[in-house]
Formats: sequence, structure tokens, C-alpha cells
Amino acid sequence: MITSSVFAGKKYAILGLARSGMATAKALSASGAELLAWDNQEEQREVAKEYAVITDLMEADLSGYDGIIVSPGVPLNRHPIVRKATADGVPIIGDIELFSQARSELPPHRIVGITGTNGKSTTTALIHHIIHSAALPAQMGGNIGLPIMAQNPLPAGGVYVLELSSYQIDLMQSLDCDVSILLNISPDHLDRYDGFDAYAASKARLFDMMAPEHTAVFAGKDEKSRLALREIGAEGRVQNVVDTSRNELSGQADWPSLQGPHNLENAVAAVAAVEALGIEEKQWRPALESFKGLPHRMERTAEADGVLFVNDSKATNPASSGPALGAYPRIHWILGGLPKSDDLAECEPFFANVLKAYTIGDAGPLFQELLEPHMSVEPCEMMLTAVQRAAANARPGDTILLSPACASFDQFKDFESRGECFRCAVKSVIEKKQIGISTEGTAA
Ligand code: ADP
Repeated sequence: MITSSVFAGKKYAILGLARSGMATAKALSASGAELLAWDNQEEQREVAKEYAVITDLMEADLSGYDGIIVSPGVPLNRHPIVRKATADGVPIIGDIELFSQARSELPPHRIVGITGTNGKSTTTALIHHIIHSAALPAQMGGNIGLPIMAQNPLPAGGVYVLELSSYQIDLMQSLDCDVSILLNISPDHLDRYDGFDAYAASKARLFDMMAPEHTAVFAGKDEKSRLALREIGAEGRVQNVVDTSRNELSGQADWPSLQGPHNLENAVAAVAAVEALGIEEKQWRPALESFKGLPHRMERTAEADGVLFVNDSKATNPASSGPALGAYPRIHWILGGLPKSDDLAECEPFFANVLKAYTIGDAGPLFQELLEPHMSVEPCEMMLTAVQRAAANARPGDTILLSPACASFDQFKDFESRGECFRCAVKSVIEKKQIGISTEGTAA
């Protein structure tokens, strides 16, 4: 875990005791800080008792505290803790900010910070893999599900690769990344922000915290990413600004876990980042080939009777499903869930690759209406039905792709359970030999 004498004798209050909150409680307690903590769940409060005094923070007097450490899951735009913090004169921060404050006592190291609406986890894992393959010590952390305060410090020369959501950036004040990457910005999480502009501005704050000699990488072609790039250029403070949005990189056919135009963008951004760290092509190119990818992101689940099954359950918005459709030429597309928008505009450029769509979940009727002018659609409602129908229609060379363009919460606990359900359905159609049995011929 990350500990530091800078926290010794200080007083903090922790709100939210899930993974990152609990790791923070442990690290601060081990560093000699005095802690109050709260979570709505009794179970979490019980575990945290060992490290903190458990009390409802809304009832406590927090004046004189050094910080309230808030979980990124707490909506700052509507949670009463914000008013409380202002009234008691205490800053609200997150675990990444604590890590930033602890850096001075860590062995010399560098940090790569990755943000964007889509592709953060994939790019984080890819950069980590490349650095590791180049025989440098590396550690992932942040939004990828690895609380940074729970990680062991790297030896000198190591690189921390941090996935940073906009919620985490909102809770940061000082993290100076050696390389900061903005992958793209599309409308998402708008329930947490005062509009799309505010969401984009939150991501761009990552660059405000950088020292001038460090490197800023911009990968997105979208309007908000372009604006952020123009602004950092106009400001002239950060000296190395790299625009990878038009860069080409040959060899994608040799990177099985990086298929699709979106993953090419991620790879190009990752290469710019590792080159800024001094890693050379002879080191990064083999790592692009050996990269294994992450579960539920363009994951090659199975191949049977010449049909490829791909689980892209993590595609929770149309901007991430669009490029997934760009990855394969003959697709049976399973989509639907809890919709985040009432259109599929970002998927439209890739409709020509879709042989047929199979809708599931709440968005089924809406998506059927949107897609029918462009392609044949089968309303399926349930995942198993969708996989069975797609398998029945599939021919050798076809791809059955789950890329829902929706959140999962209408039918599943999370995107992982949705991906699991797809995998089980795939296993079942393969075992029961239900591929290519339709007598309709390939749908067009
Ligand atoms: P994040 O951590 O930002 O949610 P992931 O790497 O988990 O990103 O990918 C989420 C979804 O977005 C996946 O379905 C993936 O295929 C898709 N995706 C990955 N990279 C990009 C990109 N650069 N642009 C659009 N979609 C992407």
C-alpha cells in the first residue's frame, strides 16, 4: 500500500467505503492519520471500524479537518456533502489526489494519466502492457478497478499508469502526469454534470495540473477533444502537445485484441505516450501483438463452424458500439438495454457491416424503429433468444457481436453480468449445435 508521513497526524473524513474508500482508510490509518468514515452500507462500516471512527459525516463537525475524501461514485452535483464541506471549510478530494500528495516520498517515478469517454481501460491496460514488456516496472491504478492507495510502491524508474474518469478528475487538484492522454469526448454521464460542456471541461482539467515540460496527447476527432486541444495550444503553457487524431499506424491485422477503428486510435495514442517515455518501436510493436485485451471489450469469446462470437458488453453508449461495428464485415448485431440517448447516430456510419440486428431489453422497441429503415431487425427481448436467433442465421465468416450501445441495468447487475450471460448463451448454442440452422438463408 502507499503510505506517507505527509498524512501523519492529519485529520480526514472518508465518504464511501467501497474499494477505493476502504483502501484509502487503510493507507491513511497506516500513515498515522486520524479518520472519520461513513458509508450507507452497514457491512462496509463494520469493516472500516478497524481504521476509522464510524460516524455520519453530515452530523459531524468537520471544521479543522484536512480533507473529506469522497468516493468517485458520490454525485457531487447533488450530494449534501458539498454544502457541508463548504460550511465547515474543508476541501473535498479523492484517492488519486492523496496519491499525488504522497508522491514526494515515493522512489523516482513517472505517471501516465488516461481519460476520455471511451477506451480508457483498454488504453490503460495496453500502455501498462507495453511498459512492462519493455522491462520497466509498471503499475495500473484508478478507474480500472485497482485503487491506487492499495498498490505497492514501484521501485525507482517505475511508471504508474492511471485510468482517470471525469469523476476522479473532479476530485483531483495537483496530479502532474508526465504524460496525460485525452482519448475522446462524447455525451455521457450527463446526470452528473451541468450539461455536455461541463463534462468536457471536467476532463480537460487533467491538463491544467501538468507541468510545462510534460506531454499532452490528444487522440479524439470529436468537437470537444478538438476544442480542448486548441485551448491547450492557445494557452502555450504545456510544451509538448501531440495530436494523434490523424496519425496512421501499420500492422493492425497482427493485433488480435485491438481490432476496429477505435482500437487503432487507442493504439496510436498508446504509442505516442510510450514514445514520450523513451520506449522505442522495436519494444512497442511486439507488445501490440501480444496484448491480450480486457474481458467484455471486443473479447473474442468463441469461434465455431466458422462463426466468430465477440463480447463487447462494455459498449454502454452508441459512441463505443459504432467503431465495434467497424471491426468486422458481416455482423449479426445484438444490442439494447437501458438506452442513454434516443438515437444511434454514432453507429450509422458502420451500418453497412450489419447483416441483421437483434434487439434486447428496454431499448428494443426504440432501436427497432431506428434501425428498420436501414436493416432487418429481430426483436428478441432476452439475451439467450438473441444469441440463438443470431446463431441460427449465421454463416461461416459471419461475426455475432454483442455491442449493446446501452447501460445494462434494466436486465443485469452490471456490464460484466451482461457479458457473462452472453458467454453462457454462446456456450449453449455451440454445445447444442444451433449455428447456421435457419432455413431463411443469410439475412440481408
Ligand atoms: P472505458 O474504460 O473508457 O469505459 P473501455 O476500454 O472499457 O473504455 O471500452 C469501453 C467500450 O468502448 C468498449 O466497448 C470498447 O470496445 C469501446 N472503445 C474502446 N476504445 C474506444 C474509442 N477510442 N472510441 C470509442 N469506443 C471505444
